[in-house]
Amino acid sequence: MENDIRKIEQQARLREDENWRFRSYLKASDLPASRIDALVRKLYQEVSAQIDCTKCGNCCRVMQPLLTEADIKRLAAHLDLPVKQFRDDFIKGNSEEGAVAEFSTMPCPFLRDNICSVYDCRPRDCRSYPHLHKKDFVFRMNQAYANCSVCPIVFNVYEGLKSELWRAGKR
Ligand code: SF4
Repeated sequence: MENDIRKIEQQARLREDENWRFRSYLKASDLPASRIDALVRKLYQEVSAQIDCTKCGNCCRVMQPLLTEADIKRLAAHLDLPVKQFRDDFIKGNSEEGAVAEFSTMPCPFLRDNICSVYDCRPRDCRSYPHLHKKDFVFRMNQAYANCSVCPIVFNVYEGLKSELWRAGKR
């Protein structure tokens, strides 16, 4: 199983067309969404058991998590900062209270030595990433397709799905 993020970025680029065709195939197929979800969860468990996210950290370098007001308040409290100062220091633009926000810098300002320095109170979006545990994978395939070049877990789960569900002749 491939887990080198540089090779995965290359492979995902080379397989862009194939991966898009698989997305189109699965969306048009009559496979029950529950069967696809069960397979995604099985592959997710198998693959994530073999990948150490602390040796990668690519998602924290190249993606912007979406931040809720609750995330911002929790992070500000964790850093012992007033919410306004936290917003001034870490949040992009003049996002209004209550609106979904993003960090002002990328890589994430809380990534230190490839480790999340606010792990216990990290944003909900970070907790959920790479989102493969969620229901209705087939309706979120654009996200998975895009994440193939970002996350070794998604790349390998997507490869596993192609092997299990896509007849060779359709490739
Ligand atoms: S808050 Fe932590 S998990 Fe989320 S992007 Fe930043 S370093 Fe990564």
